Amino acid sequence: MKTSEWLKKYDIRLKKGLGQNFLSNSNVSHEIVQKSEIDENDVIIEIGTGNGILTEEIAKNAKKVITFEIDERLKPLLEERFEDSQNVEIHFEDFLNADLSKFKDISKLKYIANIPYYISSRILEKIFEESPKFEYAIFMFQKEFGHRLMAKSKKSYSPLSIFVQTYCTVEKIMDVSRNNFIPIPKVDSVILKFNPLYKYVEEIDPKDFMKFVHMCFSKRRKTIKNNLKGIIPDAEKYLTEVQIDPSSRPEDIPLETYIQLYKMISSKHL
Ligand code: SAM
Repeated sequence: MKTSEWLKKYDIRLKKGLGQNFLSNSNVSHEIVQKSEIDENDVIIEIGTGNGILTEEIAKNAKKVITFEIDERLKPLLEERFEDSQNVEIHFEDFLNADLSKFKDISKLKYIANIPYYISSRILEKIFEESPKFEYAIFMFQKEFGHRLMAKSKKSYSPLSIFVQTYCTVEKIMDVSRNNFIPIPKVDSVILKFNPLYKYVEEIDPKDFMKFVHMCFSKRRKTIKNNLKGIIPDAEKYLTEVQIDPSSRPEDIPLETYIQLYKMISSKHL
């Protein structure tokens, strides 16, 4: 059954506030799963089941899909769609409140999702801060947001791009036109793959590091020294030590320097 038919059958009106732009083209969900190279031993976590179009495609290829959906109105639809699927486990809860530690014994864990856009940043932060080890995460984003995550410097560089690029390598999997969704959004999408670099996850606490980077960017137009001054009175000394001009703006500082700075400062000031 097509997405529009499922929605009609259960009389569901999609809510913008929950980021409900559902895939309407099953060729796209098929292509996402093909490009994800899922293994029959993989357990996949999906965030935002929707009407299950991607869930169904993942379930054909993986050992199990654990999928989170906040909107309980979708329960009867999903119960019908997956009544014969033994390997689909649906959690009707807010993913942001989910206890991910209960998945710690899964050996081949991956994330694949067309995530709700309004919480893209918080989902990324959560999986690096709380998830048990995973092999990769493949997420769909609004195109501009996705491109900012991959940005290496200057204008589109953000605390989140620094955070993400510290903990993983990011590669583009494919573009997805806005015409493949119901309702049609104002922008196109992009699918990115995040391969974690566990060396850093173990060495640098993601929660503290994110806090630190946000502090560095607290006022984008101000200098890095000014942004740090409130909590680190001798900020200038540290900046000079990592060969950064204290009058630089936060977006002019390379990623590696943030890691270096954090390591020096965290033990004394954070
Ligand atoms: N996977 C479906 C697809 O590809 O068509 C739906 C994707 S839609 C972009 C995002 C889904 O995430 C919606 O079904 C929405 O209700 C759900 N959602 C929104 N906020 C959520 C949250 N905090 N936790 C879990 N699911 C959420």
